[in-house]
Amino acid sequence: MKLVRYGERDHEKPGLIDATGAIRDLSGEVEDIAASALSPQALKRLAALDASALPLVSGKPRLGPCVGKVSKLLAIGLNYADHAREAGIAPPAEPVLFMKAVSAICGPNDDTIRPRDSNRLDHEVELGVVIGTRASYVEESRALDYVAGYCLANDISERGFQLERGGGQWDKGKGCDTFAPLGPWLVTRDEIADPQNLSLYLDVNGERRQTGNTANMIFPVAHIVAYLSCFLTLMPGDVILTGTPPGVGLGMKPPRFLNPGDEVRLGIAGLGEQHQRIIAWPG
Ligand code: ZN
Repeated sequence: MKLVRYGERDHEKPGLIDATGAIRDLSGEVEDIAASALSPQALKRLAALDASALPLVSGKPRLGPCVGKVSKLLAIGLNYADHAREAGIAPPAEPVLFMKAVSAICGPNDDTIRPRDSNRLDHEVELGVVIGTRASYVEESRALDYVAGYCLANDISERGFQLERGGGQWDKGKGCDTFAPLGPWLVTRDEIADPQNLSLYLDVNGERRQTGNTANMIFPVAHIVAYLSCFLTLMPGDVILTGTPPGVGLGMKPPRFLNPGDEVRLGIAGLGEQHQRIIAWPG
């Protein structure tokens, strides 16, 4: 099942993608694609609906982030051996955790705002993991049971804020407005046979920059979920970004960063595609 949130910012409605690719309105079934609507029982009920009997959404509405009311947006750094190499850092012995501000979350095709004083804006295509069931101290062998589904994400980063102004931690460069496009869809776990065999790509102005496969993760999704659940309780609707493959602007020689007017397109097999236009900070 592919779940979406569509409509104007902060007023998104829940929907699902039917067999023809059209959006069907789920407003009569769930309040939002969020929290308790992501439990195994709730998803089972939605999956049993006859999509063709749900109201058809006409036109091409804006897509919002595919999960609403996210209480935590967690991210894992340096989780692909080849990306750690390009960053010039030894692969970590344990997952590297940082937090992205939930206020950074936006729709998959919303413009990316280059913040004031930014000149090192960068991209990171990533697999997003959406939690469906409260998880605390879970076993790795059962960790995927706590996952509602997956989505495409861009872990947009300001490298100057991240690496030179952070006092050793990265959050300043990771949480600016529009730095976390999520979607287009939340694809339920049953549709993703193996989260460790998904190809990822990202283009800037039509030029391929990032290529990878989740098979190259240092710490697989199940390990990440179990590991994080030993430090904090994962709540339904929480999202974990699982790291990026090589090809970020920072890793290029010389580095190449994003500028207003640039067009970014990214995707993951089975999870759809995002498109962002970079715009200058409007102030
Ligand atoms: Zn990242």
